[in-house]
Amino acid sequence: MGPDTGAGAGTRAEAVVYEDTGAYQDGNALAGPLSEVFGVDVTRAAVRCTACGLAGPLPRLRVYTHAPGAVARCPRCEHVVLRLVLGNGTAWLDLRGTVGLRVPLA
Ligand SMILES: [Zn+2]
Repeated sequence: MGPDTGAGAGTRAEAVVYEDTGAYQDGNALAGPLSEVFGVDVTRAAVRCTACGLAGPLPRLRVYTHAPGAVARCPRCEHVVLRLVLGNGTAWLDLRGTVGLRVPLA
């Protein structure tokens, strides 16, 4: 066993691109655009961060909208949980930062 300094973490390109963050909104900022994609009320959806395991309602995410599209980060570890870009009649949704999206249907 040796000391783990954690060096080398956080060097992925997408983590750098969206790093100049300041103000953010809560996950309710995603309600309109995500409802367009799924046709359900996503403010009641639950997400789980793939990096730290934090689970909670989607509105708890920190949403940065000054990037191209919207970037939603985990409120605990800042990991990118999901990204959404709408344009030209297309929705591009990147969910690789969440284990899953649990949406109540009733
Ligand atoms: Zn996290």
